[in-house]
Amino acid sequence: MLLLQCEVCGRQIFGAPIRAVIEGANLNVCDKCAKLGSGHWEPKPQPRRRAKPSMVRQPVQPFTKRKQTATVPETLELVENLGQLVRQARESLGMSHDDLGKKTRERVSVLRKIESGKMVPDLVLAEKLEHTLKIKLRVPPSEPKAQFNASSKPHGTTLGDLIQFKVKKREAET
Ligand SMILES: [Zn+2]
Repeated sequence: MLLLQCEVCGRQIFGAPIRAVIEGANLNVCDKCAKLGSGHWEPKPQPRRRAKPSMVRQPVQPFTKRKQTATVPETLELVENLGQLVRQARESLGMSHDDLGKKTRERVSVLRKIESGKMVPDLVLAEKLEHTLKIKLRVPPSEPKAQFNASSKPHGTTLGDLIQFKVKKREAET
């Protein structure tokens, strides 16, 4: 704790100094010297920085939608003929673009584009379309098919070659 000295008598002031006006001067003094003063002075209030309202305002937090795809594994891919499937399913259900738009809360123009293949829906919309149309639009990514080619000899030697080799060797020994 900082100990102040009386600005009049030089003694240490324990506790808060008394702000006394002595002969026109604002001094921090001890309680004894304070009696010599003609009054009290108040410290100037700290000049408050008046920030402009625009500066005070918190930066606008971007409205982060709660990720609706959280439950959907991100590895899912959209089927290739998605637009075709959507159109077929919608028509088989007797729904118009408007009906589908209302159910999926999607713009009709978007749905039309999707059906015509001009646009690919995101996974969220694809999921909505799935639920609405009761179809499957997302599939696990197609794994690279293991190319099995019987005629290829990747290692140069097949089991058959080895057997033939042994047979020949045996023949040679006898
Ligand atoms: Zn004093």
